[in-house]
Amino acid sequence: MTYLAAKNIAKPNKKRGYKCCWCGIYDAEYDLPFSDNFVGYPYLKEERKGLCKYCYAFVSEQKFRKRSWIATEGKVDFVKQKEAYSYLFNPDDNAWFVHITSSGQKQSWLNAIHSVNFSKQRFAVSFEKYDSPIFFTRSHLLAMSEVAKKLREQKITKTEMKCGEFKPKTYEKAIDGDFENLLSEAKEYACTPQWEVVVYGTE
Ligand SMILES: [Zn+2]
Repeated sequence: MTYLAAKNIAKPNKKRGYKCCWCGIYDAEYDLPFSDNFVGYPYLKEERKGLCKYCYAFVSEQKFRKRSWIATEGKVDFVKQKEAYSYLFNPDDNAWFVHITSSGQKQSWLNAIHSVNFSKQRFAVSFEKYDSPIFFTRSHLLAMSEVAKKLREQKITKTEMKCGEFKPKTYEKAIDGDFENLLSEAKEYACTPQWEVVVYGTE
């Protein structure tokens, strides 16, 4: 897990062969076969295609696309989306990485995998909809999740929450229920990838 934190671009080395574009060891192979339903090619840019056999096994496993998962030192747990999201609130003390799927169609985690986390306070999350890691601070996550939870308790739809565009009826409801401040807060967060992750992960 930790060795993936350092990003190494593959460059041929006459003495030591090719460097694996993922982990940096000099044992990479080119033109490795991928199955017909492998959709990660756009994420393996031309100059970065060289992979060692360990990383190849990792990259070519379709389960990493189809499922949400939590990687910690020495193991990977495939979990439900909600569990992956919940993990962000109480992650490991050591290295960790989380990928949250939405449709299971994109291998976007390939672009985020080098953002391995070593902190509970500031961290990156891989979310399928985005091709780059999404950076959070713990305090920001907690603040946003509080607002999202309360809005869901008031039965506000996720569609409205995500874009921060609330219907007149929702405003009326907020005035009656005295939670207009939550709508204003949601508007501040709206249209950010962090907020999208939070809205997606909230019940
Ligand atoms: Zn490798």
